[in-house]
Amino acid sequence: MTPKVDPDLCIGCGLCSEICPEVFEMGDDGLAHVIDAGGCEAAGCCEEAAESCPTSAISLD
Ligand code: SF4
Repeated sequence: MTPKVDPDLCIGCGLCSEICPEVFEMGDDGLAHVIDAGGCEAAGCCEEAAESCPTSAISLD
């Protein structure tokens, strides 16, 4: 499972980084970024972050 944030969809609400700070972090550009692409399994919060994203910007392929 590889988390990705679509920068065209992200509105910078910060929810994913609150729910799953091990994997998502807000960048200086105001958008969410994946800081640990291999960290979803250990973190266990990527699905919740993706489901909570208001614009469905997070994919977990
Ligand atoms: S939850 Fe979605 S819209 Fe909000 S910062 Fe994360 S990726 Fe962007």
